[in-house]
Amino acid sequence: MSDTRPAPRISFVSLGCPKALVDSERIVTRLRAEGYELSRKHEGADAVIVNTCGFLDSAKAESLEAIGAALKENGRVIVTGCMGAEPEQIRAAFPQKDFSNLLAITGPQAYESVVAAVHDAVPAPHDPFLDLVPPQGVRLTPRHYAYLKISEGCNNRCSFCIIPKLRGDLVSRPAAEVLREAEKLVKAGVKELLVISQDTSAYGVDLRYAESAFGDRAVRARFFDLAKELGSLGAWVRLHYVYPYPHVDEVMELMAEGLVLPYLDIPFQHAAPNVLKAMKRPGKQDRTLERIRAWREAVPDLAIRSTFIVGFPGETEDDFQLLLDWLAEARLDRVGAFKYEPVAGAPSETLGLPAVPAEVKEQRWKRFMAAQQAISARLMKQKVGRRLQVLIDEAGPTVAKGRSKYDAPEIDGTVHVASRRPLRAGDVVTVKIEAADAYDLKGTAV
Ligand code: SF4
Repeated sequence: MSDTRPAPRISFVSLGCPKALVDSERIVTRLRAEGYELSRKHEGADAVIVNTCGFLDSAKAESLEAIGAALKENGRVIVTGCMGAEPEQIRAAFPQKDFSNLLAITGPQAYESVVAAVHDAVPAPHDPFLDLVPPQGVRLTPRHYAYLKISEGCNNRCSFCIIPKLRGDLVSRPAAEVLREAEKLVKAGVKELLVISQDTSAYGVDLRYAESAFGDRAVRARFFDLAKELGSLGAWVRLHYVYPYPHVDEVMELMAEGLVLPYLDIPFQHAAPNVLKAMKRPGKQDRTLERIRAWREAVPDLAIRSTFIVGFPGETEDDFQLLLDWLAEARLDRVGAFKYEPVAGAPSETLGLPAVPAEVKEQRWKRFMAAQQAISARLMKQKVGRRLQVLIDEAGPTVAKGRSKYDAPEIDGTVHVASRRPLRAGDVVTVKIEAADAYDLKGTAV
């Protein structure tokens, strides 16, 4: 018999990186499968789930703010995600009277515990005749792109990072499991697959590259093999969080063939050898410029995006200058920079290296951003006059917004597309580029 009570409503806040977003999607998929509904507002919902980020102090502050808002507007709050791994920090931020309203606090990937806490807060309706979940799951990203998480955890021990402590060592998903998920997504209309993990190029090491059966063939859990198979599904495939290990060179072949987008997201973080050493970064970073050169020879239109940390403890003016010189040589397409923030529990805090004063950090960050802006503006200008394939993200009455192969959603630039015919999100159109600034392009659909 079917339950006639109105479906319980859950409000969901998802903070943090794409990896956390994938965790959120799994929780939401499970709750929707059980008959829960999602609410757009905290007010009136039966409970609120806050998926937090605990990577930097600023992310922690944002997470605490979101928890505070949920307590105020709703009063029944379940906390999960990276910051949930440190419940004492969360409790310390709120008065004791709120403790009973924090129904549960769980760490990252604790799907079962989150779902159990929701069951305790408000029991699931049961209706075996209703199939509420589409086969591809419920996604929080727009219909036309999806993040595909290929592994959890990380075997590296970068000194500024507590992710391995929070999420443990690398655990890769078998290749067939990833490919089945990707196939379902593409069948459901996804036009772009964004491959994510903590260290995408290390994929499969823990499985010793074991084969698994996908369709009529066996696919090895290897970065190259997985990328090749994903590339044959008919969607754009974009690789994030890749480290410059030697075997990344092989993937250039797939980019040159057009199977994988000519795009690499490699968090270099710095260029000065002693800073990289103190950061304990993976990959052979001393020869990255050579490597970038070789990659561009193989794939001339390769776009590289990266992130950097300025003001890491012990970073001298010479180190910083070396970073600026490196940046000028590397001519990266998209760059983000963070000022180093002390992270409680991260080894970088116990290295005994002198902290860079806040005003020096600020100044270096501004110099870094100005240098990159000039590089970026030059590179963007070179795109004027070209015809680019653009995936439309947002339809508009006269101008739609989209992205070329060289830009990932949310972190990179936009192409503003004028068109005489109406464009829909998910359309791929050819656009003649007519203008550029340091980050975005403008053009007309042809
Ligand atoms: S590669 Fe380094 S920064 Fe990235 S998750 Fe692993 S330890 Fe953290």
